[in-house]
Amino acid sequence: MRPHIACPTTSGTGAEVTGIAIFDYLELHAKTGIASRRLRPDLAVVDPDCTLTLPRTVVACSGFDVLSHALESYTALPYVRRPQPASPAQRPMSQGANPFSDLACLEALRIIGEFLVRAVDDASDGEARERMMYAATLAGIGFGNAGVQIPHAMAYAVAGLARAYHAPGYPGVEPLVPHGMAVILNTPSAVRFTAETDPARHLRAAALLGADVSGAAPTDAGEVLGARLQALMRATDMPNGLHGVGFAPSDVPALREGTLPQQRLLGNAPRTTGAAALDGLFARAMHYW
Ligand SMILES: [Zn+2]
Repeated sequence: MRPHIACPTTSGTGAEVTGIAIFDYLELHAKTGIASRRLRPDLAVVDPDCTLTLPRTVVACSGFDVLSHALESYTALPYVRRPQPASPAQRPMSQGANPFSDLACLEALRIIGEFLVRAVDDASDGEARERMMYAATLAGIGFGNAGVQIPHAMAYAVAGLARAYHAPGYPGVEPLVPHGMAVILNTPSAVRFTAETDPARHLRAAALLGADVSGAAPTDAGEVLGARLQALMRATDMPNGLHGVGFAPSDVPALREGTLPQQRLLGNAPRTTGAAALDGLFARAMHYW
């Protein structure tokens, strides 16, 4: 690779610090991530002033991408539950939740809980936009090391199959469910599915995002976190689930088939996530309120 200097223009992907890029082959309707350490930039120039003219929806969608990177990494299959590589040099790029990625993800979640809605609501709120840019880079470091999982796996199918929705504030007229929106529409459903694998982590994430978790039992973790995510989605005018971007229950089989190839991400989930599980996850992502 030639020297690669990355300058993010949204507070979202964290691509300036990851070895992950998105491959979108329009003729095949094939959109997927490709991952290699060689894709990691040599230098990142991270300037929150680049986001000052972004439309509200772009700030919201990219902000939810950051949230998802941090949350999915923090609740990913922990590194201690994976096969041990023969030597440290053979570790995969996505290692699952680990103490180093946890540090970055927890701080990113805390910042998002405090500043996401402010950054969306007021383009002149320089502090909020600066904090969200920092959170994006932090979450990039976290998920570039731990890896994302179910909501991102489902998002490829959502974005690829969308035919009847174009997000406001985005250029062009073709169908478009922005990446962060395609991810977050699945997230409340996914956390209700994964919470039982580690209720404490799901509750901690909910608290950092602003939920009241006092008195919450471990069995409440999925519902508490799911409800908090839905509140953030409503506060930033996200669509009400997959139905809000034009999908119906009859689309579940196509959505499931579009998700199953994402084994790099599904294998990073804390629960086995096969075809039957995906059918339920998509069905429960259709409407949230
Ligand atoms: Zn993402």
